[in-house]
Amino acid sequence: MPVESAHPEIARKLLAFYDVHARTLPWRAPPGANAADPYRVWLSEVMLQQTTVAAVVPYYARFTERWPNVAALAGAQDADLMAAWAGLGYYARARNLLACARAVAKDHGGVFPDTEQGLRALPGVGAYTAAAVAAIAFGRRAVVVDANVERVVARLFAISTSLPAARPEIRARADSITPDARAGDFAQAMMDLGATVCTARNPACGICPLREHCDAFATADPAAFPAKAAKKAKPHRHGHGWWIERADGHVWLVRRPDKGLLGGMRALPSSAWEAEPDATPPVEADWTRAAVVTHVFTHFSLELAVHRAGVESDCNPPGSGEWWPLDRLDEAGLPTVFRRAADAALKEKSVNARD
Ligand code: SF4
Repeated sequence: MPVESAHPEIARKLLAFYDVHARTLPWRAPPGANAADPYRVWLSEVMLQQTTVAAVVPYYARFTERWPNVAALAGAQDADLMAAWAGLGYYARARNLLACARAVAKDHGGVFPDTEQGLRALPGVGAYTAAAVAAIAFGRRAVVVDANVERVVARLFAISTSLPAARPEIRARADSITPDARAGDFAQAMMDLGATVCTARNPACGICPLREHCDAFATADPAAFPAKAAKKAKPHRHGHGWWIERADGHVWLVRRPDKGLLGGMRALPSSAWEAEPDATPPVEADWTRAAVVTHVFTHFSLELAVHRAGVESDCNPPGSGEWWPLDRLDEAGLPTVFRRAADAALKEKSVNARD
């Protein structure tokens, strides 16, 4: 690692930009603080993975109100945490969050390790999160490269290799411009520049503090960086979801297996998600096809056919599950695809009732 930034002017200008234009975000310390609450930095960084700031802000507020420190989070019930996370997506993050909080509480006396290496050893903490927490919470020099930083660095050095192959070069270049002092502010300044100035489609080079140092600016089309690899089409899958409703206002919900997609979340009973799933309902009833809900996951897109049926009060669907009161459906913490399926089933029911 370089002792001094190889490009001191870049760091100097970027930090000056940050001193004036830093975004005010609820988990942030002001510019120059050189430290922040590690719990809050870690929590926000985990939430922000693959998720926008606007989506994270209300979740972050609810989490920190309910679990104001790592010890409180470590004591949360799995089901409560999964329900609180519902709608934020990428649910493996929620399971890792809990595992990490418990490890910090049990093995580290409730205090986060203050080095990148120590943080990296925690469950679910990857290279990016460890670097971000080390730099932002503890002021350690660490090279923090998220998607915004990747874009800015690819442009500053006009890196022509496409992602993901360009990652080692981007990281080496990011290392070369990271200063020893104020590494946390530098990381957040790069993120802010990427989010507000050097945006994906329309970089605002005219107001960019790094214009003079930017190789992409010298080309006709800065937005062409990072180079784009040909996109692979996502596979398409189908599934069936079953809305089983009792006349006393309860619906049958199951909990998905801990491992796998949406693991540990409450859900409607559903078939496997594949090219031609088995459409056999879990109970015999007078089924109506209510709707088809589409949802795009990271690795595939899904068309979920939602079927609805009313059943008698002694109905006992197979497998483990629970009869959940319809008037408390909001508290079930259904992930987005099942929340949409529930909405579709309820809508179909009300239309049917009117007819
Ligand atoms: Fe991005 Fe333009 Fe600034 Fe270069 S000059 S870093 S392309 S905004």
